[in-house]
Amino acid sequence: MQCPLPSNETCEHLGEILVTSQQIDQAVARVAREVRNAYGPGDSVLALVLLEGARWFADDLFVQLGEGRWERQDFKASSYHGTTQSCGMVQTDELPCSVQGRSVLVIDDIYDTGRTLGHILDLLTQAGAVDVKTCVMFEKQCHHAHPIALDFLGLTVPDRFIVGYGLDFEGRYRDLKCVGVLPQHIDL
Ligand code: 5GP
Ligand code: MG
Repeated sequence: MQCPLPSNETCEHLGEILVTSQQIDQAVARVAREVRNAYGPGDSVLALVLLEGARWFADDLFVQLGEGRWERQDFKASSYHGTTQSCGMVQTDELPCSVQGRSVLVIDDIYDTGRTLGHILDLLTQAGAVDVKTCVMFEKQCHHAHPIALDFLGLTVPDRFIVGYGLDFEGRYRDLKCVGVLPQHIDL
């Protein structure tokens, strides 16, 4: 059995840093501008934050958005279960509120296969949302088995298993304000 490693990682503990804190801040500020410009001042938007991973991005994004027309609701969705491969099934809670007739902005951490976002988009459409937009912090440069249209994107990242800024490996590394690959001593 593997010994638990300390959970006080810093960016220096990563095998390689791919995205710095400054790049994250710049991307979030730009995405916030784009989101603000995409909606009218009187629009009421339900912002659905896909937990756990998107919490870090959403927290920073809402600081930048800074106005009251976004109703934030957190929504648990997962398709990785502590491993580095998507397991092929998306698990969600019940939708946190009615989306009938509403504009919904789905906020997620990373667009990899697209399975999670595709599933959520179908769910929202079936539940009667009239306008659904996607806002994702990272897009992996890979073949998306379930392609979806992204309306707002932070940054593209290489097709590698990454951690940091909400992205975890077995529950660790989410708090890092940078993104990178695991140190070499961790076997995937
Ligand atoms: P999907 O394959 O459905 O696009 O992505 C499913 C979920 O898997 C993402 O929302 C994210 O939580 C997780 N995921 C995808 N790629 C990575 C990755 O490189 N690192 C980590 N830690 N999680 C990932
Ligand atoms: Mg996710």
